[in-house]
Amino acid sequence: MAPIPATMKAVQISKIGGPEVLEYTEIPVPAVGAGQVLVRNRFAGINYIDTYFRSGLYPAPSMPLVMGREASGEVVAAHASVSGLAPGTRVAYMAGAPSAAYAEFTAVDAAKVVAIPEQLSSEEAAAIFLQGLTAWTFIREAGEVKAGQWTLVHAAAGGVGTLLVQMLKSVGAKIIATASTDEKLALAKGYGADYLVNSNDDIVSKVKEITGGHGVDAIFDGVGKATFDADLQMIALKGHLISFGNASGAVPPVNILQLGPKNVKLMRPIVNGYVAERADLEKYTSELFDLVISKKVAVKIHNIYSLKDAAQAHIDLESRGTTGKLLLKIE
Ligand code: NDP
Repeated sequence: MAPIPATMKAVQISKIGGPEVLEYTEIPVPAVGAGQVLVRNRFAGINYIDTYFRSGLYPAPSMPLVMGREASGEVVAAHASVSGLAPGTRVAYMAGAPSAAYAEFTAVDAAKVVAIPEQLSSEEAAAIFLQGLTAWTFIREAGEVKAGQWTLVHAAAGGVGTLLVQMLKSVGAKIIATASTDEKLALAKGYGADYLVNSNDDIVSKVKEITGGHGVDAIFDGVGKATFDADLQMIALKGHLISFGNASGAVPPVNILQLGPKNVKLMRPIVNGYVAERADLEKYTSELFDLVISKKVAVKIHNIYSLKDAAQAHIDLESRGTTGKLLLKIE
């Protein structure tokens, strides 16, 4: 194994702003603390949350902030307190801020690291890890989706969206997909969506027609501000409204009385909370990897960028022109 250098390439921000504030720079390789391993990253995932920290929608925990919340790679060193993760083990991880994955090396809590099974490449693991755990835990724990129920996925051709559609199919739900173009809707149909609604159309009336007036039992909404009011109109009696992102902006404060007429279960979950316990991380990761290995879920990669081109990846993601996952390759 190559010796660990003193410095490394990384992408960080020193101030909030547009994609231009992402700096490709040279910084020290982090030291591993108690309970941590050092991972040599191979692929880092681009996630919409990275744009929230960059833009200031979410406050940065510190500056400069190395971006990125997930990656795959291999363990190259471990603190003396860590056992069971030998150097060379291929791993994936997702961690809270600052987890600093847009970098050649990241020091990660061993409790957040999982080994990648041999049937999966490091590229595939990075492409499905954070977004796959999001989609799967939100279906299982937040939406409690059952076979035959009506479900709706906004931005169904996106990273989380393509995974939600395929996973909802695997549990036998009826799936309505929304997206902003016919090409994106066709992609969602290919992954198993039963009904397609262009988000520029009157979504509420189309959904009432599709569901015969029943409404949607579980709505998965990562779009946020632009779709929340429609969600309240489309949700079925006793439905689960899972609002989990801000692609169009943050949902304004909600009047709780709006939930009364249909006994709506409104949730605003964060994936990390469903895998905070090691047993849950192992259970859901193993189920996620099995879904991919058994080909129930296909990995859709939009593009793989060089680490130095992280700004272009942010531009592309925020342009609404991407489908599936964006990755950074770390040479
Ligand atoms: P996507 O690949 O889904 O990209 C975002 C999509 O949102 C766009 O492609 C676009 O699809 C749609 N969109 C609608 N309005 C806008 C707008 N004004 N600007 C930009 N995009 C818009 O991103 P991700 O898969 O990375 O993330 C999806 C959502 O899930 C995000 O909100 C993210 O924050 C959230 N998320 C939340 C997690 C949690 O734990 N709570 C974990 C992971 C992700 P279209 O053109 O079809 O409308």
